[in-house]
Amino acid sequence: MTSATITKTMSNTPYPHLLEPLDLGFTTLQNRVLMGSMHTGLEEEKNGFEKLAAFYEARAKGGVGLIVTGGISPNFRGRVAPFGSELSKFWHVNKHKAVTKAVHKYPTKICLQLLHTGRYAYHPFSVSASAVKAPINPFKPKELSERKIWSTIDDFAHSSKLAQKAGYDGVEIMGSEGYLINQFSCKRTNLREDKWGGSIENRMRLGVEVVQAVRKAVGEKFIIIFRLSLLDLVEGGNTWEEVVTMAKAIEKAGATIINSGIGWHEARVPTIATSVPRAAFTWITERLMGEVKIPLVSTNRINTPEVAEHVIASGQSDMVSMARPFLADPDFVNKAAEDKADEINTCIGCNQACLDHVFKQQRATCLVNPQACYETELIFKESVNKKSIAVVGAGPAGLAFSCYAAERGHNVTLFDGASELGGQFNYAKQIPGKEEFYETLRYYKKQLENLNVKVHLNSMQTADSLSNQGFDDVVVATGITPRTPAIEGVNHPKVMRYLDVLRDHKPVGKNVAIIGAGGIGFDVGEYLVEPESLTVKPDEWLKEWGIDKTYQQGGALSPGNNHSKSERNIFLLQRKKTKVGGGLGKTTGWIHRSTLQHKGVQMIPGVEYKKIDDQGLHCVINGEPKLFEVDNVILCAGQEPNRSLYEQLQAANLSVHLIGGADVAAELDAKRAIRQGAELAAKI
Ligand code: FAD
Ligand code: NAP
Ligand code: SF4
Repeated sequence: MTSATITKTMSNTPYPHLLEPLDLGFTTLQNRVLMGSMHTGLEEEKNGFEKLAAFYEARAKGGVGLIVTGGISPNFRGRVAPFGSELSKFWHVNKHKAVTKAVHKYPTKICLQLLHTGRYAYHPFSVSASAVKAPINPFKPKELSERKIWSTIDDFAHSSKLAQKAGYDGVEIMGSEGYLINQFSCKRTNLREDKWGGSIENRMRLGVEVVQAVRKAVGEKFIIIFRLSLLDLVEGGNTWEEVVTMAKAIEKAGATIINSGIGWHEARVPTIATSVPRAAFTWITERLMGEVKIPLVSTNRINTPEVAEHVIASGQSDMVSMARPFLADPDFVNKAAEDKADEINTCIGCNQACLDHVFKQQRATCLVNPQACYETELIFKESVNKKSIAVVGAGPAGLAFSCYAAERGHNVTLFDGASELGGQFNYAKQIPGKEEFYETLRYYKKQLENLNVKVHLNSMQTADSLSNQGFDDVVVATGITPRTPAIEGVNHPKVMRYLDVLRDHKPVGKNVAIIGAGGIGFDVGEYLVEPESLTVKPDEWLKEWGIDKTYQQGGALSPGNNHSKSERNIFLLQRKKTKVGGGLGKTTGWIHRSTLQHKGVQMIPGVEYKKIDDQGLHCVINGEPKLFEVDNVILCAGQEPNRSLYEQLQAANLSVHLIGGADVAAELDAKRAIRQGAELAAKI
């Protein structure tokens, strides 16, 4: 058995606990930061492993202690999807060597995650403890026979051996999030009556046997991390006593480290979205501290060195896992070590370019860092033709362009008519649960300073004002104008634009109709129903989502409804007949819908708007007239590009480029705005 010695010595370095090495007995991690497993989509792309090597190398160069790769299946049936990656044949080894070689140019260690998806496999060959279909997957799994259980254990051991051959420093065995091993360990999905079902000793047998078999295959000097589900957050999940029993057995079986797993994928509780308070789940890892001797890793919504340092310094865990923060900034650890935390590009927890992409079978990247997973394709080389460039508009598109262009050596001047940087992000940041958007603005502000971009606020630009200043190029990033729909009475005093609410903070009545149920309609709804953000009040947030910190029953969910209703009556309306909120983010849309539902907001599709008058909003729904007797009607009916400056500059024959909402407003989001700014900067 491996044992770890954890000595905590204070020193003068910033974040002394976070940056302290961790001695695992046979090897030492340079710090307490584990980059959590993320499937990027490169695993399955043609020549994807070369790009994957560059992706991981950048993070190793950035100083992370231990990387865990995206999940790779130990066999055919455990793959995520039909063409999902597996490591089961000797010819699979070579491509992994590119990754380990790249990472080992630095003192970082890397473990391969072995992930058998069980009933979460998105293909018809899925298997599980019992033939119980997952609510989030159309495929019903086949129950594994005893013989197949043993061959699955062998597959984990064989895969680990191959991982060792490929140069990995260890493996992480995925035992949480509702995947195969977790499906065996919980009564929810394990209905077996043989020695693999029934008591906790039987249900945890698969996980324990896997660890034993892997340890036997790889010897003593190889890291085995076990990702143990500490909170299942589903009915039929394990009790705390069962979690502790399993942790002890996993330690005894030969694991080096236990990483925390929080919530099954099918749980109806947000666990990583931006509205989840920072470090909202570290208390559960803290509860396991002392029950086992091997190091414990806490996880979920830890995104700054301050938070991570606090978690370790206060004894909540021995290490912290951060995954998405390393998409957002590969240099997170080095910046922290150099006491430059204010230069970290912080993950805002939006999921828009990472998880949402993966669930749509697209390559993951990052909204705030479009270079993530494009390290070999989106490159900001020093320019050989340095230009003087004016950028008009300091929203996400203009900010991103300015920083990347300045990084390439261009001389950049950024103008905005508003008094602060950020464009629409200044409205987004006010929505309860979107406080992280402040971090992106802080990051850009610092970048502009460091890169000597000249910034002029309160400075509305025209073709005239720009014409005689000697700029080689003008980049127009003037954003959008909110759409005013052609409804009779749209100028009635009870009608408000979303900017009246979010920017000007005009008073809003008790009865409200919102026209338009896109991202902004939902955000305005949340702004109106949440008197204060629970994201900064972790205990109240946990209570609101029914998480019982006292762990009275399996899965740690509290019985009954804990949601408080809003004092406002809100109707969120759209013309489309499809589900309201159907176009929101793949992994976060359900959270927005649930939040508004819990607060009593009525979401109504198929609405035909007729007129607005003193009585309220007159509509037709399913052929029937309907009057919403409301105090205010708030317009969130999409946006139009703000392109007049671009047209004037073109007419004046200036070299002009168009990015962000000013280019295409339909379905614009910050992900597209930032990427477009970055791509233009890479080639201008
Ligand atoms: P903008 O952000 O609109 O910036 C344009 C800037 O140009 C403004 O600052 C304006 O003052 C300036 N400007 C215009 N004309 C001139 C001129 N002539 N001279 C000088 N300056 C000028 N997106 C997401 O991806 N995720 C979200 O969760 C999200 N939430 C949102 C929530 C709300 C409430 C809102 C309103 C938007 C949200 N968005 C979100 C959308 C996102 O903010 C926009 O897609 C993004 O800001 C567009 O960036 P942009 O740079 O093109 O334009
Ligand atoms: P949007 O998502 O395009 O939604 C616009 C809404 O207005 C739709 O519900 C549309 O539904 C309605 N609409 C459009 N034209 C209308 C008309 N003429 N009359 C009445 N209703 C009309 O745009 P948005 O809400 O303004 O958001 C802008 C962008 O910001 C979005 O593309 C989104 O990506 C981004 N954003 C993202 C988030 C996020 O959490 N990821 C949050 C906020 C904003 P019907 O046509 O069916 O009525
Ligand atoms: Fe974080 Fe959003 Fe980037 Fe994903 S896309 S890593 S959630 S900032």
